[in-house]
Amino acid sequence: MTRLRSGEAAQQSKMHPSLPSVVAFDLGKVLLDFDYAIAARKISSRGALTPPQVRPLLECSPLLRRFESGFLTDEQFAVEVCSACGFSGTLNDFYAAFADIFWEIKPMIAVQAALRANGVPTCVFSNTNGIAVAHIRRRFPFFARFDAYVLSYQQGASKPDPKIYAALERMTGRTGEAILYLDDRAENVQAGLLRGWRAFQHETPEKTIPLLRQMGLPVSLNP
Ligand SMILES: [Mg+2]
Repeated sequence: MTRLRSGEAAQQSKMHPSLPSVVAFDLGKVLLDFDYAIAARKISSRGALTPPQVRPLLECSPLLRRFESGFLTDEQFAVEVCSACGFSGTLNDFYAAFADIFWEIKPMIAVQAALRANGVPTCVFSNTNGIAVAHIRRRFPFFARFDAYVLSYQQGASKPDPKIYAALERMTGRTGEAILYLDDRAENVQAGLLRGWRAFQHETPEKTIPLLRQMGLPVSLNP
């Protein structure tokens, strides 16, 4: 991944000296909503466990954390979960069931599009995994339109581990207040603030969009 072009930062600082020069978006619950209950129902329908028994294996297990931190391949994760659930489908059946849990948060996708159209670099900063990202790339065209991608499974570390924040700084060539970061999880936001980034906890587009506008960021295509 190449660094953002320095000209973009210069252009931004001319527009408004205190503007952040890159906006980092968490993915889940910021740009894409998701529900692991959807996957749990599909996997349960071809396995030995009930949906409430499957769901924690997918959503909050140490296995998922290791997978999203890059310590397991897609296949290793799938084999472990399929075995725990008695899943009778193929690996591809599992990948499809596991990944098809997302839908767009359209007002926030529109914010990213507006920033991009107005020359503000944007970055995806996500705890995620290869199965989900392959699906998201195929399904959601907006995902291709960022300047940088800092993804936990590729970095060998998950938020709020400082290693992945350092990776974002390396990949964007930005530090401190030049970075604005939005995430729905408080502990992840706190880790950004500790590095001197501007960061806040995203709750709803209705709360976030006015905050971005107050900072002077161009958040609509037709201001
Ligand atoms: Mg999130």
